[in-house]
Amino acid sequence: MKIIETDNGSGYPDEKFINLPRMNEEAAGAISDVLNNKLPGKRLWKMVKDDYILNTIGPPNKTILRRNNDELGKSDNIGEIIKCPNCQQIHNIEYGEQVLKDGTKIPSKLLGFYTCGGAKYIAGINGKKI
Ligand SMILES: [Zn+2]
Repeated sequence: MKIIETDNGSGYPDEKFINLPRMNEEAAGAISDVLNNKLPGKRLWKMVKDDYILNTIGPPNKTILRRNNDELGKSDNIGEIIKCPNCQQIHNIEYGEQVLKDGTKIPSKLLGFYTCGGAKYIAGINGKKI
């Protein structure tokens, strides 16, 4: 499965794939749930099959994840703080939780976020800077 960034209700979604390794349905569902939870707004994060064809009509949007997997593996560890590319201030990194099959939640470093100006941004994946 793959995850796409698409629009929530518009006829011109300008969809794009999120650059992540191939994953099973459970992982894709969990990651898209976290993205929709932590990055609410007009964009929607949707799990699709590997052969999904993007609808790319519409204005180009800023790519959220700009590094490929090889580059991500060489990236620095994300740590607990980040120097914000928007405001140049230091922000704390927040992490999500993984929900186990029995409903128990455990801390997960799969996705790291920071908050700037009331909006949340992705800082890292799997403990690595993006
Ligand atoms: Zn900031």
